[in-house]
Amino acid sequence: MANAVRIYNTGDPSVMQLEECELPPLETNQVLVKQTAIGLNYIDVYVRSGLYPLNTLPTTIGMEAAGIVEAIGPEVNELSVGDRVAYPMSLGAYTDFRTIAASSLVTIPDNISDRVAASIMLKGLTAHYLLRRTYRVKKGDPILIFAAAGGVGLLLSQWAKHLGALVIGCVGSVDKANLAKSYGCDHVILYKEQNIADAVQDITNGEGVAVAYDSVGKVTFQASMNSLRPFGTLVTFGNSSGPVEPFSPSILGPKGSLYVTRPTLATHIATRPLLLEGADSLFNLVENGTLKIACNQTYKLDDIVQAHTDLEGRKTTGSTILLPD
Ligand code: NDP
Repeated sequence: MANAVRIYNTGDPSVMQLEECELPPLETNQVLVKQTAIGLNYIDVYVRSGLYPLNTLPTTIGMEAAGIVEAIGPEVNELSVGDRVAYPMSLGAYTDFRTIAASSLVTIPDNISDRVAASIMLKGLTAHYLLRRTYRVKKGDPILIFAAAGGVGLLLSQWAKHLGALVIGCVGSVDKANLAKSYGCDHVILYKEQNIADAVQDITNGEGVAVAYDSVGKVTFQASMNSLRPFGTLVTFGNSSGPVEPFSPSILGPKGSLYVTRPTLATHIATRPLLLEGADSLFNLVENGTLKIACNQTYKLDDIVQAHTDLEGRKTTGSTILLPD
């Protein structure tokens, strides 16, 4: 049996409930994982609320966790009982035990804890593909990062600084501004109060940024576009304020022959080599101290309603983990 957070309907945080449920039988290519730390991610909010539709209900939600292999199916060769493993993106993470395809898992290096692994798999692999694949940040590039004090945001800011970018972060409060600065932002825009595009023009002496990494979506999309330099790239990768409204590509020409893309982590870890390449890069930067991991909130799994309420209420900074017991 497992203790899992399931939803029977989509809606506000109160639709989630922790309950005992049967574990499915282990398939030949799967392992049974005893989970020790679960990552909380904004995508969990989209799934719970119904913005990202589910195929079946009831469902255990959550995408990311770390733990220990308890049993392996007969076709699993690369893992053994007792291995420490983590995964970034596999629906069904809010639980103490789960079965999961071995191909979804990576082995956690000895000097990275389960809690750190659960704090960085989804968010850190996202930072990796955004900075190294979607737009390959170069030394000296001025770049704009939204929700810079958030889970993805603190990782993006540090990683971009390490690559030599001029990092401009947008944040929702003065406390978050101080945090973002201590994690690599050279400049911070308080985007509830300041005009984002004007502030960017001031900071870059009228040049604009090479890339805007916009996870806020609906309310910041236009400002992101107006902050770009000619040939700049707008990466719209999240919807914390709601989905971006439809727009005509014809507006991109007069604004400077701009590029707009909407990537997802799922594509960037769709094959085993892609997953392992991203995880290696991420773990190396954590192990050599380049990335400091801010796991700033911890909740018990049965406090999941509060955890979602705080994430949606913009009360969290850095990463958040859920502990199954
Ligand atoms: P965060 O820790 O960044 O939390 C969300 C933050 O968004 C808030 O703290 C808040 O920061 C900001 N925000 C702005 N407007 C709103 C609003 N109206 N309601 C709530 N929050 C708002 O979450 P994550 O690190 O988990 O995720 C960050 C973003 O990245 C999300 O949009 C997520 O969907 C996206 N993402 C996309 C992926 C992809 O592959 N496409 C993969 C992973 C994440 P502030 O107060 O500073 O504005």
